[in-house]
Amino acid sequence: MATAAGRCGCGIVTQPVKEAIAVRGMSKGFRERSGWVEALREVSIAAAGGEFVTIIGPSGCGKSTLFNIISGVIAPDEGEVLIQGQDARGRVGLAGYMPQKDLLLPWRTVLDNVVLGMEVSGMKAAAAREQARPMLGEFGLAGFEGAYPAALSGGMRQRAALLRTVLFHRDILLLDEPFGALDALTRRAMHEWLLGLWGRLGKTILFVTHDVEEAVLLSDRVYVMSARPGRIIGELAIPLPRPRHAEIALGGEFVELKRLLLGMLRGEAAA
Ligand code: ADP
Ligand code: MG
Repeated sequence: MATAAGRCGCGIVTQPVKEAIAVRGMSKGFRERSGWVEALREVSIAAAGGEFVTIIGPSGCGKSTLFNIISGVIAPDEGEVLIQGQDARGRVGLAGYMPQKDLLLPWRTVLDNVVLGMEVSGMKAAAAREQARPMLGEFGLAGFEGAYPAALSGGMRQRAALLRTVLFHRDILLLDEPFGALDALTRRAMHEWLLGLWGRLGKTILFVTHDVEEAVLLSDRVYVMSARPGRIIGELAIPLPRPRHAEIALGGEFVELKRLLLGMLRGEAAA
């Protein structure tokens, strides 16, 4: 965690470490046909630079709404959102965002899909392609630059969407259930791959899932959300050593962390 300004043992006043992401007292409601729906209530979360932080909560608890607010796509009713110390309310582009329904454009090739973010931010298409091409291999897309999304497997489509987000070149990535639609085997392969990528890129990742095992395997820290209106009802540090591989899920400490998280999700942490 980022620490407040303070004095170290040698007597030198240390500078405050800026949190990569800080959300404080954030609330959001929507006017729906059935009336007013309270989606998020006084949510406060933070992520330090380079940290892998996961939000877990039941379907409909406001996870995607939270990400839409942090990314600046929608504004909160109340509360603060800071990205690297900057007010991020209503400001898109401070973080790389992969929304839950991040569809690739079916009429664009893989290469033209992954450069979309760069083109939108003003880069010439040819230069953007030059930059993207060498990264296709690392994302398991070598040889597919001219393929259309329909020809790709589910895992490849998700990796293409992730590459598009990474090529936006932000220090912070917001990933909303990126593996939610994948089968169990592909998902497992993607976990190892994402951890390797995170280790190499050194980015801060804020990740959404409703899968307890995925949360424990990937994260440094997990926030637990209640059912709607979404509130933070618990926080759990995951002190498992890295690098982590799938086999770690068989260990006693992993199973205990999973058990703790499940208990928190059932509301035990609210007590
Ligand atoms: P989650 O991602 O946790 O499944 P969401 O953030 O998608 O949850 O949704 C939380 C609640 O907010 C739901 O009840 C949903 O219907 C409502 N909601 C989300 N976005 C909108 C919107 N743009 N307009 C009206 N209601 C919305
Ligand atoms: Mg969602």
